[in-house]
Amino acid sequence: MNFELTEEQKMVQKMAKDFAENEIAPYVDEDEEHHHWRREIFQKMADLGLYGFSIDEEYGGNGMGFLEGVLAIEQVAKVHTSWRMAFNMQDWGPALTIQKFGTDAQKKEYIPKFVSGEYVGSFAMTEADVGSDVAGMKCRAEDKGDYYLLNGHKMWITNGTVCDRGLLYVKTDKDGGAKGITCFIMDYTLPGIERIAITTKVGLWASDTAEIVFENVKVPKELILGKLGQGFNICMTQLNGTRLGCSAGALGLSAACLEASIKYANERYQFGKQIGKYQLIQQQIAEMELEHAALEAMVYKAAWLKDKGLPNQKETSMSKLFGAKAAVHAANECMKLHGSFGYSTEYPCGRFLRDCKQFETLEGTSNMHTQIVANAALGYSTNRA
Ligand SMILES: Cc1cc2nc3c(=O)[nH]c(=O)nc-3n(C[C@H](O)[C@H](O)[C@H](O)COP(=O)(O)OP(=O)(O)OC[C@H]3O[C@@H](n4cnc5c(N)ncnc54)[C@H](O)[C@@H]3O)c2cc1C
Repeated sequence: MNFELTEEQKMVQKMAKDFAENEIAPYVDEDEEHHHWRREIFQKMADLGLYGFSIDEEYGGNGMGFLEGVLAIEQVAKVHTSWRMAFNMQDWGPALTIQKFGTDAQKKEYIPKFVSGEYVGSFAMTEADVGSDVAGMKCRAEDKGDYYLLNGHKMWITNGTVCDRGLLYVKTDKDGGAKGITCFIMDYTLPGIERIAITTKVGLWASDTAEIVFENVKVPKELILGKLGQGFNICMTQLNGTRLGCSAGALGLSAACLEASIKYANERYQFGKQIGKYQLIQQQIAEMELEHAALEAMVYKAAWLKDKGLPNQKETSMSKLFGAKAAVHAANECMKLHGSFGYSTEYPCGRFLRDCKQFETLEGTSNMHTQIVANAALGYSTNRA
């Protein structure tokens, strides 16, 4: 493994950093205050090619892989963690999954539109009663000959009120368990769909989240992705990609907490000295540095394994699990280190704390990732590519 980034990777990193600092940072406070998903930022990310990692150039991809994608997500998440979601909703969610499972016609029709931002994307498996137990989903599409009739709901869907198309996982065989799930490239302009914004979130305030209700929606059969009943397998494959997006987001947030903490430790004087000179503060900083460095190694390694086509499910889950721990710890330490100013909304510590908690739940809770890591380590499951 090479520990130095290539010139191209450094360019991606710098491009994403400059973009985040110039185009996202000026809107952070306003968008947080109004819980606003800003379409202009979404589109500028597309125009820069940020939704094209791991996507073939013939479908509009940028010809680069997971490692370059991770570098970009990290820089964006460091400035405003809400925007790390956009990568998964376009690139490693719908676009890459269609590239893996779609027909030629589907690839040509949909992937370029997710990459270019013409379609705002999403993926939906969660329901109010069904989270970790994906196979237990109830939202159902019945075969009516010419079309599928869709009824039910999905909950906690990122981009739920704004998406044009997205991966939708539903039961086509209600008693079939995991084998009864089918994935559709859902068209959210079809009649019978109601979208209800979830405005009570603890964090991720510049990211759109919604409940989506389907009532007698007639879904054309050509929107099935892969085979009938293959949805669970497609879902797990998709999640193994998008989970790395979470890990990279946690890495970005951890970097933001560390940078803010170091700055404040050097600026703040108590008892006649910079607080950074006190051993207890040094311990906090050293722990954050250690965890950040360990997380970086895990995230980059998982990305590298993916780019090589090697087994990586365990390593991806390790980065997701440790990313949540490191980000939550870093955000907590960051606020403590800032004293009362950390508790003020004039500093970003509160946002860091609100945003870090997502990593313990989204795309598999920490308990679920603990199981994946342990089962692979114990030899109870095979580590998959
Ligand atoms: C902001 C936000 C955005 C989201 N975006 C999306 C999206 O775009 N698409 C989508 O489909 N979903 C999305 N989700 C949903 C998210 O992925 C789920 O919430 C998550 O998978 C957990 O499901 P749950 O909330 O139902 O928790 P549950 O599965 O009910 O879990 C509750 C608790 O029980 C634990 N638990 C459950 N089963 C076990 C077990 N067998 N062993 C040990 N512990 C267990 C869990 O670890 C957790 O601590 C989003 C959620 C949020 C908050």
